[in-house]
Amino acid sequence: MSGMPIAIISDLHSNLEALDAVLHHAEGLARIDAVWCTGDIVGYCADPSAVIARVRQLDAVCVAGNHDLVACGKMGVQDFNPIAAAAALWQGEQLSPGERDWLAALPLVRQEGRSESAFTLVHGSLRAPEWEYLLDHEAAEAHFALQTTPYSIVGHSHQQFRVVEDGGAPRFVRATDGSSVALDRNRLILNAGSTGQPRDGDPRAGYILYHQDAAIATWHRVEYDIEAAQKRIVEAGLNPWLAERLAIGH
Ligand code: ZN
Repeated sequence: MSGMPIAIISDLHSNLEALDAVLHHAEGLARIDAVWCTGDIVGYCADPSAVIARVRQLDAVCVAGNHDLVACGKMGVQDFNPIAAAAALWQGEQLSPGERDWLAALPLVRQEGRSESAFTLVHGSLRAPEWEYLLDHEAAEAHFALQTTPYSIVGHSHQQFRVVEDGGAPRFVRATDGSSVALDRNRLILNAGSTGQPRDGDPRAGYILYHQDAAIATWHRVEYDIEAAQKRIVEAGLNPWLAERLAIGH
């Protein structure tokens, strides 16, 4: 079985400039064997079709996020704020029936990787795959109770971190650019942050490079052409705040 590195991306949110910058960065560091994506391929930014095309071309392993479910018509927008709702519905209108079908077929949870170091991929949490923000001890404990693989990867909060099971009590460790964790069979939850719309004050696109053979996962942040992505959002007639927030990582 191949042991080449895997790029873990999340919350792409139709930001083609950010996705391409991340893929370019990862390919500069290693020969990428696979791409895993923990959902929200579309939403917020201006290029849903192009981002779906890129993800399909990479044959990326994906789970569905809440924005993907809205864009393909499987979920309503009653729990979205008005700006997110308008953007999510706009995404669906841009997609072809084939693209919507592709999104609709994505699973909410899936397992990947070698059996002795398998990962569970889910957008929110195992307790509420499309909705829960896994950001506190109680949510982490409930998720770990349902996690049957050594490791899991979540997205949704657009924050880069890991959760360690420390003598029973989950401990959150915020990730910084270039920080790593050894996958040493202790159970972990990883979050790659957001590739297309970071919300931790750092506007650079986020992802994880997972070196299977070395059993190490490293968080990265990558500069990209934010102005180009903003221009696309404004030209598409989407809410200007969706462009502004990219520059401040909010
Ligand atoms: Zn998201």
